[in-house]
Amino acid sequence: MEVRVDRFSGFCWGVVRTVEIAEKELAKSSKLYSLGDIIHNPKETERLHAKGLEAIAYSDLDHLRGSTVLIRAHGEPASTYKRAEELGITLIDATCPVVTKVQERIRKFYLDGYQIVIFGKKDHAEVIGLVGQTNGEAVVVKSTDDMAKIRLDRKTVLFSQTTMDKPTFSAVREALAQRIKDLIVASMEDEAIEFHAKDTICGQVSGREKKIREFAEANDVVLFVTGRKSSNGKILFEIVKSANPKSYTIEDAAEVQKEWLAGAATVGITGATSTPQWLMEKVKNEIEARYAEKLNSHPNYSSQNS
Ligand code: SF4
Repeated sequence: MEVRVDRFSGFCWGVVRTVEIAEKELAKSSKLYSLGDIIHNPKETERLHAKGLEAIAYSDLDHLRGSTVLIRAHGEPASTYKRAEELGITLIDATCPVVTKVQERIRKFYLDGYQIVIFGKKDHAEVIGLVGQTNGEAVVVKSTDDMAKIRLDRKTVLFSQTTMDKPTFSAVREALAQRIKDLIVASMEDEAIEFHAKDTICGQVSGREKKIREFAEANDVVLFVTGRKSSNGKILFEIVKSANPKSYTIEDAAEVQKEWLAGAATVGITGATSTPQWLMEKVKNEIEARYAEKLNSHPNYSSQNS
């Protein structure tokens, strides 16, 4: 049995940047608060917690006057910045630059009098930050079933949460275009930041879909490492599962069941944009250690296979 780690998986550059900002801050001070989990991966959260990072809720800000608080890659609504200023809280803004661009564009269209429609999940932190650019007025839809929420007599612009899937976005876009004559579909293609054409879905997410499908097809069994709360993880896992039915989500190696690997010549390990590379390597090492006897007796086994 050969165990391979997908070299195209792991943190997107926005998450790498956020973690680097947090670690730089933690090197200067042993305590840093993060508004929400810095990343939807419990193992990486635990690692940073050991260095002094503590996740807090918005309501905790009132008790943290004068402290330092990190804004994670998902971003925050304008009201959070205002509240922090009132409380004398120093904000370390690690919002992903892609998300910042989407926030800026939403704000601009909103101030120009457009109805803002966001394809996304209304309770997702990024969407809360996006809606917060519009005084809470943006309409959030998650499928074509939500069309009734949208006014058809207003000039309208459609955005997407950066981690949503393209096929559902296309269906929403078509449904809206049939109802609203001069619909604008927001795109960032005129910007230097990597976006795929004609939407605000991050290229770091959509660009992975093809590669992860190929990886899933190329292995007998796929272990998809992700935090259960990761939105991107759910979307990528659906793609993996459709390409290879013998695919399983895990948070770490302890969850791997022996029967999943029965008869497999190749086991592929991949993950979401919030899955650290070190965790996938750890899963690989633990599986190899657990099945060392079998691996060592296999004539074709090579430890260079990752
Ligand atoms: S997926 Fe894209 S938008 Fe989200 S944090 Fe990563 S780079 Fe930024």
